[in-house]
Amino acid sequence: MTQNNIKIAVTGGIGSGKTTVCDIIKEQGYSVISCDEIYNRLLRDKSFLNSLVSEFGHILNGDGTLSRKKLSEIVFSDKDKLARLNEITHPEIMKEALKQMSGNGVYFCEIPLLFEGEFEALFDKIIVILRDKELRVASITKRDDISEFDAQKRINNQCDYDNLEFEKYYVIHNDLDLTNLKRMTIEIIDKIVKAN
Ligand code: ATP
Repeated sequence: MTQNNIKIAVTGGIGSGKTTVCDIIKEQGYSVISCDEIYNRLLRDKSFLNSLVSEFGHILNGDGTLSRKKLSEIVFSDKDKLARLNEITHPEIMKEALKQMSGNGVYFCEIPLLFEGEFEALFDKIIVILRDKELRVASITKRDDISEFDAQKRINNQCDYDNLEFEKYYVIHNDLDLTNLKRMTIEIIDKIVKAN
């Protein structure tokens, strides 16, 4: 029997290409849920923001919005604080993501911390994007205007993707150009959708 609801996680380390892959998936006409977008919406919610202020202190800009820079500086230099931020945000993010994926259909979900949050069991299939660390550092420093040292620190806070049991997942090696990334992504979508 064909499954009516299929949830597919798209994960990988920071700067690995999750958003780029998800844009390709959207171009192919599939529904994509973004945990980053859900998180961003959550951060605009006043009462949620207040709970973060009580936990982390001075993290707001003068206009009362969140200073991502201040929050990042706090959590990326203290593992306990990062764990606490994840403890507060993950349940809210996953609740909303699951709600958005609750109907009939095939849903792809861009989710950065799948393994760290132990969310594997919520998904039917998992796509893992692997990308050379040097390429990731170069992308993050450019995109987020941070130093190489800070980029390394963020990467080191995530799970070691080299130690995954790859046979359990659909893996995209994003070490070539964007044309190749598109080709590999479409091949994997075809494989997953046909396997259902
Ligand atoms: P984050 O975890 O920080 O959200 P991400 O995994 O979503 O990152 P992307 O934002 O998709 O990663 O990619 C990081 C940067 O690298 C982007 O600027 C993207 O355009 C670029 N990029 C990704 N893959 C490739 C590629 N194969 N060739 C060239 N540039 C790429």
